[in-house]
Amino acid sequence: MARRKIAAGNWKMNGLAASVAELEALKAVDASACDVILCPPATLIAGFAAAAQGSAIKMGGQDCHSDASGAHTGDISAEMLAEAGAIAVIVGHSERRADHGEDDAMVRAKAEAAHRAGLIAIVCLGETEAERDAGDALAVVSGQLAGSLPDGATAADTVVAYEPVWAIGTGRTPSLDDIAEMHDAIRAELIKRFGAEGDGMRVLYGGSVKPGNAAEIFAVSNVDGGLVGGASLKASDFSAIIAAANG
Ligand code: PEP
Repeated sequence: MARRKIAAGNWKMNGLAASVAELEALKAVDASACDVILCPPATLIAGFAAAAQGSAIKMGGQDCHSDASGAHTGDISAEMLAEAGAIAVIVGHSERRADHGEDDAMVRAKAEAAHRAGLIAIVCLGETEAERDAGDALAVVSGQLAGSLPDGATAADTVVAYEPVWAIGTGRTPSLDDIAEMHDAIRAELIKRFGAEGDGMRVLYGGSVKPGNAAEIFAVSNVDGGLVGGASLKASDFSAIIAAANG
């Protein structure tokens, strides 16, 4: 099935109000044939959403709490992100799984919260280097997929991001064959569990996507675009990646 590609940018803990200049420079990009979701720090979402109005660039959060409100100092709910202008939220990024002890059940609860608030959940999965070296990559990602995706997830409300932990921020990527093997396996599991909705769900690759490798990675079987960290911070680099997703 033909799926519209997504170029998603994860700014992590980078960016101040002046970074709106990067967004302004991005607005001219041709994204007529793909979706663009920029996930700046939560402090910037409302301002960026206003600045991006009239362009193809939509906003996303980088994490949310599973509750809508309550005594959770420092946390942000999916409803708050939606009110600020986000249309999506990343959940289960490996940095949150590692730094904040998030397990599959917690990630699933966050994805459910995203859906409750009307947001697309971008659910991240990926093996560590030790797991890949041990030959366990497919089994690890399959287990994360089973545990992190909510029942009833649809092609419209859920995006999967396969991000091998060892490829994030390292400049290393799996071979195109290894990416294809993993994305084909994820697609098979999605169809087994969600039927036609699983066939329509976008599966992004993430981990050291750059202007120089985006086109070849996005051409791989069952790769429906990318979740991009470092290379999304500069409009010139992210524009080139969006152009690769746009085809
Ligand atoms: C990420 O953190 O989601 C990511 C893919 O980072 P990078 O592109 O910098 O490897």
